[in-house]
Amino acid sequence: MATGCLSASKVPEVPGLDLFRGRWFHTGHWPKEGVDFSGQRVGVIGTGSSGVQAIPLIAEQAAELTVFQRTPNFVLPARNHPIDPEHQRDVKSRYAEVRQAARESGFGIAVPTPTRSALEVAPEERQARYESVWYDEDNNLVDMLVSYNDMITSQAANDTAAQFVRDRIAEIVEDPETAAALQPHDHPFGTKRPCLGTNYYETFNLPHVRLVNVRKTPIVEITHRGLRTTQEEFEFDDLVFATGFDAMTGALTAVDIRGRGDVKLEDKWHAGPRTYLGIQVAGFPNLFTITGPGSPSVLSNMITSIEQHVEWVADAIASMRAEGLSTMEPTVEAEDAWTAHVDEVGHMTLYPTADSWYMGSNVPGKPRVFMPYIGGVGVYRQKCDEVAANGYEGFVRSGARQAVGAGRPSSPAG
Ligand SMILES: Cc1cc2nc3c(=O)[nH]c(=O)nc-3n(C[C@H](O)[C@H](O)[C@H](O)COP(=O)(O)OP(=O)(O)OC[C@H]3O[C@@H](n4cnc5c(N)ncnc54)[C@H](O)[C@@H]3O)c2cc1C
Repeated sequence: MATGCLSASKVPEVPGLDLFRGRWFHTGHWPKEGVDFSGQRVGVIGTGSSGVQAIPLIAEQAAELTVFQRTPNFVLPARNHPIDPEHQRDVKSRYAEVRQAARESGFGIAVPTPTRSALEVAPEERQARYESVWYDEDNNLVDMLVSYNDMITSQAANDTAAQFVRDRIAEIVEDPETAAALQPHDHPFGTKRPCLGTNYYETFNLPHVRLVNVRKTPIVEITHRGLRTTQEEFEFDDLVFATGFDAMTGALTAVDIRGRGDVKLEDKWHAGPRTYLGIQVAGFPNLFTITGPGSPSVLSNMITSIEQHVEWVADAIASMRAEGLSTMEPTVEAEDAWTAHVDEVGHMTLYPTADSWYMGSNVPGKPRVFMPYIGGVGVYRQKCDEVAANGYEGFVRSGARQAVGAGRPSSPAG
């Protein structure tokens, strides 16, 4: 299954969408030909990664734009720019080294590992570091998180970065009430996916852009003309849902996958996903999940993690072929131990304190479990390699292949 961690999109749980007479779009299914919002009255629901990037562009075209925000996010400037040729040459001249450093790193990105606490450096030094992240053209998503070694484990350390971003918001956004509504206070920096934006906060200074805080005035229903909150009725030509995804498990459980004893994957995961290494599920022989829950996946540069999984799974299948075996699945014990480890490491951090899609909190009824593995991409890769080197420790591999090399693999035992 290479169905993606963020591919099962969701629209808000408010009634009435079928009544709406205008156009509506989900950012995860954007029309390939593009959308022209010129002269339109547009409502955008959602201010996560997709909303943050869509809002400034829609504002450039729309006659009126109303943004419905439930949770303000921390948005760092993307500072997209042509890559300096010298920088390109440098990276390409030591490509193998850079890629290897990414594979061994915490987040799958080759950045220096922090060694000091945010609380042990002088406030001026901290400020200078955060300013360099904010203003540096070559910044990247994890630069703030890797500023200090306790950014995701210490609330006090994290607060220093969170306050830095809140201060920038207050500086940029002219209307104090709007600025206050855009400042995140309900989760530590980085525990919801930090966003990169271009002119995001600046967009709220435009006269035709308005922010509606749906924490204060929730959306009650979508109507044929727009939508209604507890306080006001809105009319729109277009609605844009930037409301995210049933992350990590949604695309897997959307398929009616059944394992031994006809057990549905969805039922097996009723209390949260259980996997061994995020790659396999006990009772589901030969089901492999690329960047599955319980692996670094969405907490990493996904290209690094996807490659690692694809290579590991290909090697595992090749090894079965070579040994004339046909099925592979984890033991329940290995799965239990790994799932407990993923949970334990997750709870050593601030991540579980946030209502995030990492925790399943954005989908009503979804169990609240920290799904990705935060032990680090390098550590995780090492563990996977050790498991393979030890004869696929924790997996049961069995069954004689019926027609080795005959072209068609035998079907999984079930
Ligand atoms: C707003 C946003 C920002 C992101 N930013 C980053 C980032 O900065 N860095 C990063 O590394 N990653 C980022 N990601 C994550 C991104 O999803 C992955 O990097 C990358 O797309 C994952 O590739 P994939 O092939 O695993 O999954 P996808 O690209 O999601 O591909 C999965 C494919 O499977 C298909 N599929 C799903 N279910 C079925 C089915 N039942 N039958 C047939 N086909 C099916 C889907 O249609 C899709 O084509 C971001 C994602 C989003 C939404």
